[in-house]
Amino acid sequence: MNFGSHETTGPDQTRHIGNTLGKTLSGGEVLAITGDLGAGKTCLIQGIAQGLGIASSDITSPTFTLIHEHEGRIPLFHIDLYRLEKPTEVEAIGLEEYFSRDGVTAIEWAERATPLLPQNRVDITLSHEGGNNRRITITKKGEL
Ligand code: ADP
Ligand code: MG
Repeated sequence: MNFGSHETTGPDQTRHIGNTLGKTLSGGEVLAITGDLGAGKTCLIQGIAQGLGIASSDITSPTFTLIHEHEGRIPLFHIDLYRLEKPTEVEAIGLEEYFSRDGVTAIEWAERATPLLPQNRVDITLSHEGGNNRRITITKKGEL
């Protein structure tokens, strides 16, 4: 996995980092992704999907549903908590059930569910660095 800090200058580079990461995944990983609106969380997940053998165009920002499931080399559960209105909702969607499944769970706005996240996970933060520059930091938490 490409742990550490990366700087990208456009969406294609961000997708490339996601693709590289996606290729290393074997299932069961939880990716907790944080960053402001427009930081590139969905873009990164498009690359991760590619790395899992899923068409990146299938990855869109979920609107009404909080979870999208995709079939690939390994299933990808794309969760976006942006529209979460109250913390109890996250229990209602059965977030924790995904963690014990064999797929990769990628969660946008993961900080909205911090108490529910597994200790063993990958934290990914994206930040705006002016213009089209983004900093992407990938950190392992616990044992993987
Ligand atoms: P988020 O899911 O974090 O809200 P998106 O991935 O949906 O963000 O959108 C990121 C937006 O920023 C896209 O419109 C993309 O084209 C643009 N962008 C510009 N530079 C970058 C970059 N280096 N990495 C990712 N996205 C970028
Ligand atoms: Mg998004």
